[in-house]
Amino acid sequence: MIIRGVFSMSIINRLKFLFKGENDKEVTDITNDVSNTSDDVQATSSKKVNDSIVSGTKTTAPISSSVKNDSEEDSNDLTFKKDLESLDDEKDSSEEIVKEDTPSETTTKEEVPKEDKLSEDDKEVKQKLNNKERDKMTLLTDKEILNDSNRDPDFTAEFIDAGIETVKHCFQCGTCSGGCPSGRRTPYKVRQIVRKCLLGLKEEVISDDALWMCTTCYTCQERCLRSVKIVEIIKKARNIAAHAGYMAKPHKMTGVFVMNTGHAVPINDDVKALRSKIGLPEVPPTTHANPDALAEVQKLCKITAFDELIGYDEATGGLKE
Ligand code: SF4
Repeated sequence: MIIRGVFSMSIINRLKFLFKGENDKEVTDITNDVSNTSDDVQATSSKKVNDSIVSGTKTTAPISSSVKNDSEEDSNDLTFKKDLESLDDEKDSSEEIVKEDTPSETTTKEEVPKEDKLSEDDKEVKQKLNNKERDKMTLLTDKEILNDSNRDPDFTAEFIDAGIETVKHCFQCGTCSGGCPSGRRTPYKVRQIVRKCLLGLKEEVISDDALWMCTTCYTCQERCLRSVKIVEIIKKARNIAAHAGYMAKPHKMTGVFVMNTGHAVPINDDVKALRSKIGLPEVPPTTHANPDALAEVQKLCKITAFDELIGYDEATGGLKE
């Protein structure tokens, strides 16, 4: 077998084997083991490996596996390099995508005209927008500087006298505005209104149409870190505004419903049908079913001058105007 193995070696290895002797057999076998695929050579190698292990020499098996491991590591290295290359490729391509998506500096410059190229009208619009933007962040504007002359301490005292002393506890964190469903869809900014009430900016508060945009859902009050009675502040401010003649028309119309039916939201045909469907009397046992009770509600409204406050017209059952 050894002779067959020798003949199946390359010429160089054969010469090496003949001239160097048995000591280099193991190395030759290893080389052959790695470089050749012949069964005979493999058999020869295996024998030599086993012989070496039996004789206690540290050679083929570890070296062979080392060679194998090295080649595995090499292939791993290659794979790793390939991975890195593919990552680089991906990075390059993503950079290309970003580059494609991002408008070039030239394009941006072309699209946005410089300040000195704006027309007078555009400048005015821009200034208005800037003022509006600033107004979101502060109560102060260029037009009006806050001082004692436009403050009304009695206005603030009205909240405290009404038991809403928590108006003083607000530290303007903005949690109320952040959760306000109305503020998301309208110009209404509850945080600013609370601040203005505390500062005594009466005219600003009561003349603001946004004051009537609160839905009294109580989200702000539930979330307030300082337990400020926010909705009570809004309702009190509305009362003051209504007495000063600033009530919003939809709220006046709600008052008309109260005057005519005793309900701010009177029953309608859909609700009647639904009540019948679930086995309830079509009309609830309220002012809807009791004309005497309705007359009492109307009497109370007149005694308290609620009808005058909303501008109720008894002759038409609607609003005066
Ligand atoms: Fe906004 Fe009024 Fe609801 Fe408070 S109660 S979150 S202010 S809508």
